[in-house]
Amino acid sequence: MSQEHTTLEKIINQDPVFGQLSFDDHEQVVFCNDKETGLKAIIGIHNTVLGPALGGTRMWNYDNEWAALNDALRLSRGMTYKSAITGLNLGGGKAVIIGDAKTQKTPEMMRKFGEFVHSLSGKYITAEDVGMATEDMDTVREVTPYVTGISQEKGGAGNPSPITAYGVFMGMKAAAQFKYGNDVLEDRVVFVEGIGNVGETLVEYLTQEGAQVHIADINQQRLEEVSSKYGAIIYKGADLHAEKMDIYAPCALGATINDNTIQKLQASIVAGAANNQLADEHKHGMLLQQRGIVYAPDFLINAGGIINVYAELEGYDRSEIMRKTENIYTTTIEILNKAQESGVTTHVAAFEIAQARIDARRREQQA
Ligand code: NAD
Repeated sequence: MSQEHTTLEKIINQDPVFGQLSFDDHEQVVFCNDKETGLKAIIGIHNTVLGPALGGTRMWNYDNEWAALNDALRLSRGMTYKSAITGLNLGGGKAVIIGDAKTQKTPEMMRKFGEFVHSLSGKYITAEDVGMATEDMDTVREVTPYVTGISQEKGGAGNPSPITAYGVFMGMKAAAQFKYGNDVLEDRVVFVEGIGNVGETLVEYLTQEGAQVHIADINQQRLEEVSSKYGAIIYKGADLHAEKMDIYAPCALGATINDNTIQKLQASIVAGAANNQLADEHKHGMLLQQRGIVYAPDFLINAGGIINVYAELEGYDRSEIMRKTENIYTTTIEILNKAQESGVTTHVAAFEIAQARIDARRREQQA
């Protein structure tokens, strides 16, 4: 029997939920099931010390329910630290819907999902993530006020993805300043893996600055669209991570920095939009550090989207959204310097600041 099989069997038999590797003191996990619309969703509420748990909903055709649960747990935890380091009064939550967003998502399913969100009375506030669009959040809004990322016509701040891309671009420039002593990305070779909502706008910023942008995606049609719009080079090889490049920008799903990819990675900087880029935060963060590859922590540089949706709750305007997002540059420089001075990974440096803010608030609440 393989070790993996034994471990899975142990988890299922002994601690099927709280014993999950990704379980990290989550406050609440909600399983939502509706036969009529085919909805199967999991809402992970990691921490609400700083405020309501805000985080997007991802619809994905997971291999199995364990993968979906793990994703909900990992993503919701990531949101806690993202909001904390960005200085927002929000906790961390995230939802996943199991299924193919292209063929199985219906307005009825979205409304039913909204009813489940509503039943949590604002403890969890949703928004869009992979497989979701602004229109879907508009549909959810029909049944609950606990949703952000709704369209500007409906009074929201609109699609957060371009703002996320701007923040990633800022974080990437800060990493370049740190690594090369110069933040101009002209002629730098950048591989963008995943050119969806965020990836496309990132490609736009990069090509405007004169970077040599290579793009990869599982969607051929999108590759052709984005390539013809911005002149980016479509990657046709079979082993992207082994290609010679200056900057690797993961903008698809998480865990692309893993045991298989890390040793062959040729980049000197990793900076992208995807959540949970490190399959194992500690091990892979450390290996990147040892190899001299600067990692701009994902939860730090992809916070533009949450800044944008937070504006819907706090009522600040576009210029304030852009100012806060631009500030990702300064925070990234601070974190990279702090990591170097203290000899810890950049992930740990960012994590410690976020955790300290949560701990301080918790102490205030208990006083
Ligand atoms: P999206 O669904 O619009 O785009 C994802 C793209 O990745 C798609 O084009 C898809 O075809 C591609 N893809 C999927 N698997 C792939 C693979 N194995 N190899 C190459 N390409 C692959 O999603 P998005 O909104 O652009 O988000 C991208 C990432 O950024 C996600 O991890 C998301 O959680 C994260 N993120 C997004 C936001 C936001 O504002 N949208 C905010 C923070 C973090």
